[in-house]
Amino acid sequence: MENVENKATELHVRCCIVGGGPAGMMLGFLLARAGVEVVVLEKHGDFLRDFRGDTIHPSTLELMHELGILDDFLKRPHQELHQLSGQVGNETIPLADFSHLPTKCKFIAFMPQWDFLNFIAEHAQTYPTFHLKMQAEVIGLLEVTGRVTGVSVATEEGQLNVKSDLVVGADGRHSVVRARAGLEVQELGAPIDVLWFRISRKPDDPGQVLGRFVRGKIMVMLNRDDYWQCGFVIPKGDFDALKQRGLALFREDIANTAPYLRDRVNELNDWEQIKLLTVVVDRLRQWYRPGLLCIGDSAHAMSPIGGVGINLAVQDAVAAANILAAPLSQGTMTSADLKKVQRRRLLPTRLTQRVQVVIQNRVIGRALRNRQRVSPPWFLKLFQRWPFLRRIPARMVGIGFRPEHVKTPERRS
Ligand SMILES: Cc1cc2nc3c(=O)[nH]c(=O)nc-3n(C[C@H](O)[C@H](O)[C@H](O)COP(=O)(O)OP(=O)(O)OC[C@H]3O[C@@H](n4cnc5c(N)ncnc54)[C@H](O)[C@@H]3O)c2cc1C
Repeated sequence: MENVENKATELHVRCCIVGGGPAGMMLGFLLARAGVEVVVLEKHGDFLRDFRGDTIHPSTLELMHELGILDDFLKRPHQELHQLSGQVGNETIPLADFSHLPTKCKFIAFMPQWDFLNFIAEHAQTYPTFHLKMQAEVIGLLEVTGRVTGVSVATEEGQLNVKSDLVVGADGRHSVVRARAGLEVQELGAPIDVLWFRISRKPDDPGQVLGRFVRGKIMVMLNRDDYWQCGFVIPKGDFDALKQRGLALFREDIANTAPYLRDRVNELNDWEQIKLLTVVVDRLRQWYRPGLLCIGDSAHAMSPIGGVGINLAVQDAVAAANILAAPLSQGTMTSADLKKVQRRRLLPTRLTQRVQVVIQNRVIGRALRNRQRVSPPWFLKLFQRWPFLRRIPARMVGIGFRPEHVKTPERRS
């Protein structure tokens, strides 16, 4: 095992991961498990943050099964979603049925993202090669003749320089790493934004209906036992206009979309309770430079459609670990290895984003403009008539394109 040399202001590791989200934590875990000395730098003091997705998909659960940590994971509080349905006007349409997936878990697990990240951190910390530094904000890259050799970090104790063979930008869709590296971003556009808020749930509320489309309004509702995590979709840039109309009218919009919430919409009494997610869909043209690689949202910000961002971030991490663990531990990693990671993950990213953009523009965008009474389009009615069709969206959402499998060996010493 290699030495982590921690001088007052300098740290040396094989791999430095910027960002302790799903991509960064999973990559840190897998590399440490394979015996690579790795540090994950996270700018926050904990994983507790605003809602940013709670879905753990069947393919991610499958990876946990491959890693031998699934049983432990399922002991933690979570909810299981076996089927997905949507409501268009007054009709409920079953959309996806996960029961036929070729995975051990035939459901989406809902767990607050901070619990999931803490879980990964706990398992990663059983490997001596794993290091997690919280309240460590990366502010710049260290470079020598065009090659990235590390990062400079602002910590509570002052500035720290982390030197490494590889820097991984896993710092999300506002990535500092990709900006500092000058990597070119392709914007794919998004006509929508989403407002996230909670409303209490009663035991006799109707069951889980993922999306409600009612007269120009769309609301996503996730059952979190004692509350509904709601996402209200609005046309891009309309939040200020909505605020000017006033909270009372927004509450009315919510009650019209899900009438059984009418007796509770007054729980929303301040715009502070409502968080704006500016939807961004973009992708880096090239995900790497000598000594540097971006993965997860930092390489490709995903639309919330399908709730697949966490899954893709985790899949990127697995592919990166599979390809890079050996050359990193042998000290032979080159840009050709980094290119292999992009090659492996570009196709699933492209396909997923294409589907999201089509749904955003053709389905969601149109539904927001349609103030008339809506009824389900013909193709959705097919899902009512032929249940086997529900397997297709189940596969696309639950497993996605090109699922990854853990190929890195476990090395404990
Ligand atoms: C409101 C909302 C709802 C969503 N709902 C879903 C959903 O239901 N299902 C789903 O799959 N996806 C959802 N997503 C998307 C999902 O959150 C992301 O796709 C996923 O988290 C990407 O993981 P990541 O690890 O690449 O990046 P992130 O999760 O964004 O993690 C990046 C990490 O890097 C840290 N960081 C940033 N800059 C620095 C820095 N300079 N130095 C150190 N650390 C830094 C951040 O604090 C953060 O912890 C949602 C997103 C939002 C915002």
